[in-house]
Amino acid sequence: MHWLLLPIGSSDWGCGMGFLSVLSMAHKWIAERTSTGDIVIDATAGGGVDTYTLAELVGPKGTVYAFDIQQEALDRTAERLSALAGDNKLPALKLVLENHARMAEEVDPSVIGQVSAVMFNLGYLPGSSDLTVITEPASTLAALDSAITVLRPGGIVTCVLYPGHPGGAEEAAAVEAWAAQLPQSLAQAVIYRQPQRHAAPYLIALEKRPLSVNGYRAG
Ligand code: SAH
Repeated sequence: MHWLLLPIGSSDWGCGMGFLSVLSMAHKWIAERTSTGDIVIDATAGGGVDTYTLAELVGPKGTVYAFDIQQEALDRTAERLSALAGDNKLPALKLVLENHARMAEEVDPSVIGQVSAVMFNLGYLPGSSDLTVITEPASTLAALDSAITVLRPGGIVTCVLYPGHPGGAEEAAAVEAWAAQLPQSLAQAVIYRQPQRHAAPYLIALEKRPLSVNGYRAG
């Protein structure tokens, strides 16, 4: 079974264990920090699975941006989300055919500092006509920096990493190193990974530091 096809809430990592899959864990952490009406971003629209989950979370009063550099991915995403339109459950949906490294420039300026969640699912688009289109470390790191910029205090970035394909391990290592050097006054980072399965996808998440009640950063 393909990782993207795992049912939401499934406890299957692909090896029959009792822990949540990386994608389900990403969705859970995001759901805990997102309410209806929020603004959220899918940085790698791909087949639209994450975009769909984000759309359900924020509902018709919310806003979902979905970035991809392939029109094919945005078409697949629009098609998947059309199911919500019939039920009047579709949020404001902004499909952006741009490199996600330009995230902070492409969103409406009023959105900066207001976004609840940004999701990344790295690698290539399964089933794409061009499997050479793949996320790359330099633009991924620029996009992650951009994601932190657009987040509201207490908002979350999730990033699913794929060390199993060529270049994927290097990209995953670059993201881990980037997360490790982030000042704790800016964000807290966590890793969700099976240490016995080095090629399996794993998850890094960042929570932007919440503001304390008096406006100073907590802790
Ligand atoms: N690897 C995942 C799916 C990832 S889809 C899985 O196997 O389930 C990743 C998507 O990111 C693709 O649709 C690809 O076109 C897109 N992408 C690649 N580089 C990008 C960039 N710089 N900006 C925005 N999207 C990008």
